[in-house]
Amino acid sequence: MSAPQQRRIIFQHIDEPGYTPDIDCYLRHGGYEILRRAVTRPPGELRDEVKQSGLRGRGGAGFPAGVKWSLVDRKSGKPIYLIVNADESEPGTFKDRYIIHQDPHQLIEGTMISCFANDVKQAYIYIRGEMPHGARLLERAIAEARAKNFVGPNILGTGYSCEIYVHRGAGAYICGEETGLIESLEGKRANPRIKPPYFPAVLGLYQCPTIVNNVETLCHVRHIIDMGGVEYAKIGTPNNTGTRIFGVSGHVQRPGTYEYECGKITLGQLLYDVCGGPLPGRKLKAVIPGGSSAKVLRFGEKFTLKNKDGSTRELAMEDIPLDFDTLAACGTMGGSGGLIVMDDSVNMVEALANINAFYSHESCGQCTPCREGSLWMKKITSRMVHGNARREDAALLKGVADQIPGRTICAMGEGCSWPTQSFLAKFGEEFEAYHKPKKTRPADALPLI
Ligand code: NAD
Ligand code: SF4
Repeated sequence: MSAPQQRRIIFQHIDEPGYTPDIDCYLRHGGYEILRRAVTRPPGELRDEVKQSGLRGRGGAGFPAGVKWSLVDRKSGKPIYLIVNADESEPGTFKDRYIIHQDPHQLIEGTMISCFANDVKQAYIYIRGEMPHGARLLERAIAEARAKNFVGPNILGTGYSCEIYVHRGAGAYICGEETGLIESLEGKRANPRIKPPYFPAVLGLYQCPTIVNNVETLCHVRHIIDMGGVEYAKIGTPNNTGTRIFGVSGHVQRPGTYEYECGKITLGQLLYDVCGGPLPGRKLKAVIPGGSSAKVLRFGEKFTLKNKDGSTRELAMEDIPLDFDTLAACGTMGGSGGLIVMDDSVNMVEALANINAFYSHESCGQCTPCREGSLWMKKITSRMVHGNARREDAALLKGVADQIPGRTICAMGEGCSWPTQSFLAKFGEEFEAYHKPKKTRPADALPLI
């Protein structure tokens, strides 16, 4: 079955000839009309729309956005902050950067509606340091929006005032973890905080209730308020509503960003029909479906899934519908929507060595299992690809990876160990082959980080 049509909600105008990131173009395309209508409605009603929409966070965890908003402590008497998480740092993830570069006002409008809905007077866009162009575009877009009275004091004459500030990170992956981000915004080292018991919704920035939402999530809010939560919930599939932007990179003919209804397109349709399949003469070998920390899938593998009535069904890897729940049932995750595709030219030990080098470098170091475990996973895979593998290395690698998840402060414990666990489980034979003493690194191998 060929792929369905794209459903372009966030990408409605992006890629249209002549569509530019300035406010005049945005206004010509109906920009800020939804904010204009939103500020005439009771904020609680807007929050209900988002709850009814079923929108799940697009940063990676898929936590329902409306539920997150409903958990905000509104009785503390402290200011409520909103933080736009634009620190998109997960390898293989580039959808938020694309939105910011092509349509920054869509994000500003979604943010302002969300601020109004939650009685927020101060919002921060935390953008990663490696996106200077995006930061400049956002600063310009905020200035343009302020000049038209969509941001700042007495917005559109309603008496409601709200400022948005752009804050640039300095290039650390862990600043994308929401509590690490908050520490960084407070001027400290980005050490993630322990949660539970206190989530940012209760104790966040400056110990005040704080909403942290991803860029794409906040753009969806604009469209939810436009069409209504109930209508929005009809897009996609139950529990996986709306559209999702998939960022496909690696060994396909047409990598890029594509927007589809959640769960309405399969992995095979996206990679073969939309992205054109493998490069000439090659076969697809593996895909990491949700940013580098998601568990890898091997082409040709099958999954046994449980139906609601308790019976089971078999699902081929190519037939997995791309939604949060099915990917989780297949033992991986939709995560950040970044799909990393590898063909049969890829040496999986080398691919893992690169991933491990990244996570080892980015561990904040607070928790021993993550700090030491990621370092040892890097050391072992590194010595393997450099021709110094030991007979016990594959088993040792598994032993190290298995001891990390569930024993750390933040989700990076899982994120750094899942690649090793899944690469070993799915491509174990490639790791076992490495203990042969004469194995040397191929001349055209990827450079190690
Ligand atoms: P999480 O499940 O701990 O939390 C998800 C969100 O829900 C958070 O905002 C959290 O505050 C909120 N939440 C959860 N339970 C709550 C409660 N009881 N009360 C109030 N709020 C609650 O996940 P996480 O650690 O924030 O994120 C992990 C995910 O991040 C991974 O799955 C990965 O896909 C993703 N990730 C994305 C990127 C990227 O660049 N987009 C980078 C790294 C990781
Ligand atoms: Fe830091 Fe890793 Fe612990 Fe997260 S899991 S707090 S990144 S050491």
